[in-house]
Amino acid sequence: MKAAMFHGPENVVLEECDVPIISDDEILVKIEAATTCGTDRKLYLRKTKKYPSYFSPPSIFGHEVAGKIDEIGKNVIGFEKGQRVFVHDSAPCMRCFYCKIGRHSLCDNITWNWGTWAEYLRVPKEIIRCGNLVPIPEGLSFSEAALTEPLSCVLMGVERSNIGLGDTVVINGAGPIGLFWTNLVRNKGAKIIQTDLDEDRLKIARKIGADITLNVKDDEDIIKAVKKNTINNRGADIAVEAIGYPETWETTIRMARKGGLVTLFGGPPPTSNITVNTALLHYNELNLIGVFHTTPRYVQSSINLLANKKIDTDIFITETLKLDELDKILDNLVNRKGIKTAIIP
Ligand SMILES: [Zn+2]
Ligand SMILES: [Zn+2]
Repeated sequence: MKAAMFHGPENVVLEECDVPIISDDEILVKIEAATTCGTDRKLYLRKTKKYPSYFSPPSIFGHEVAGKIDEIGKNVIGFEKGQRVFVHDSAPCMRCFYCKIGRHSLCDNITWNWGTWAEYLRVPKEIIRCGNLVPIPEGLSFSEAALTEPLSCVLMGVERSNIGLGDTVVINGAGPIGLFWTNLVRNKGAKIIQTDLDEDRLKIARKIGADITLNVKDDEDIIKAVKKNTINNRGADIAVEAIGYPETWETTIRMARKGGLVTLFGGPPPTSNITVNTALLHYNELNLIGVFHTTPRYVQSSINLLANKKIDTDIFITETLKLDELDKILDNLVNRKGIKTAIIP
């Protein structure tokens, strides 16, 4: 089969590989669509050859995918050949301390399954058993279904942020993740202030529900500019960082009102640190939360949201390309052309 193989940063090559062989407990999926993601971009442009736990090169690239079941191991029940499915990129073990207390994203033994920029994908038994191989409801295309993975991560962040009607939420960042935030927070009925450096992306944010957009380039003091758009300049009820830089984590924290909630969602390099003024935590009683990845519950809810047409999928998938057009796919990814590219093998 054809596959885009990641050998190292800025070294992804189209290669001929063997179709994965499955065990009796696994499923083989014929990929119909994969989508590109900011996490792929971070890995591609990585400055070091040290990789996060979910990725060990050489490996087929990509992690957002939907397809059709091609082969089923003889011990697997509940699926049929030809069935349309979304395949999530991870599975919690369902047995460790964190899984037992319902914090599946903190699982001590997460199984990761990358390798979606290809023609076939092996689905490990852990993903099948925890429910992260999900049938695609009618009316949802393969590319739309592939959005389930990033959407499920954002959905967990939104649900943990306790956003209510009448709240003002500032979302820093209007990339794919920031825009999923916009779409979901709009559904919650809150006022949205969104910031970014890219005017085109802010335009999309306005289109899908941002009430106020601020270009960081235009405002010398972005914290002040955000506060000016909240009642009595008091700051946002909920401040969200959807970029992943330590510097923007720090500015986001200063955008929240007293007693507000700060959701630090974008993932900065693991070795980075931030500085927080203690008065903000003590006298202002700020609540800071971190959110990582997702859980099977939010994977299912995301499929529901997509099937119920609550997500503006057309703004997220801006181009559809064949896997053969790898150079163009990577160019879109690296130079942030469009929002997401759908890859059809
Ligand atoms: Zn992703
Ligand atoms: Zn676990």
